[in-house]
Amino acid sequence: MTACLHLPNHSTAIPPVPDPLSAPPAKPEPRDFREGRAGFLHSWDMVTAVNGPGTRLTYFLAGCPLRCQYCHNPDTFGQDQAEQVWAEDLIRRIRRYQSSFNLTGGGLTLSGGEPLLQPAFTAGLFREAHRLGVHTCLDTSGFLGALADDQMLADIDLVLLDLKAGDESLYRQVTTQTLAPTLAFGNRLAALHKPVWIRFVLVPGLTDHPDNIRAVALKAAAWPNVARVDVLPFHQMGRHKWAELGLPYQLADTPEATREQVEQAVAIFRSQGLNCPG
Ligand code: SF4
Repeated sequence: MTACLHLPNHSTAIPPVPDPLSAPPAKPEPRDFREGRAGFLHSWDMVTAVNGPGTRLTYFLAGCPLRCQYCHNPDTFGQDQAEQVWAEDLIRRIRRYQSSFNLTGGGLTLSGGEPLLQPAFTAGLFREAHRLGVHTCLDTSGFLGALADDQMLADIDLVLLDLKAGDESLYRQVTTQTLAPTLAFGNRLAALHKPVWIRFVLVPGLTDHPDNIRAVALKAAAWPNVARVDVLPFHQMGRHKWAELGLPYQLADTPEATREQVEQAVAIFRSQGLNCPG
């Protein structure tokens, strides 16, 4: 017996055939995440002169092993609330913006959170972007640098490396983690002659002591591949997120860094021969 024998004799009663184009996308399985076909995305944007040269498509990947006191995106700490995305969809968007990259000298930046928390996903996006001839940039704390294999590094044109403090004790106070892996990653990038921009967040009362800035500057100056250092003044734009997440925010009463404080930090970096735009 076939089912059609039981259908009324008019065409509108025929059950609709699902349209494959309008079918909901398949939900990634754990294996898709492990093998880099899918990942956890917090958000994305297209901006100029931030996150690397030119106009950049920046994907902010979710999840981070650090807990920086000054983090302005604490909603990227975890992956529970993140969007589950397919790599091929993110690559499609990279293709869409290729002409903007060509016009502005921009490209793709993977930021976070910490992109190296999803090494297979990150590696796959960089590999495909590189294959398309798109400039690639990794924005990282370097804490998980050991998870970036040589192939991934070959597919990265520029690393934005956050040096959050100049010694272990202050680094742990700022981030809850240890500085050594970041230094090891920096040494590896130097050995590979991989272009690096160092980023240093100037937080009044936390990272702004001249001894700390000098210690960061000395480490950066020891790496000949460091093309520039950016001093990023602490701001309070992320304060409301800590409150919304119900997380204790230790810098609630910390003032934003002033122009003069930034200039003093810039002078210390320049005194070590580093290119540090004011
Ligand atoms: S490394 Fe970046 S994303 Fe992670 S806690 Fe620190 S500032 Fe936030």
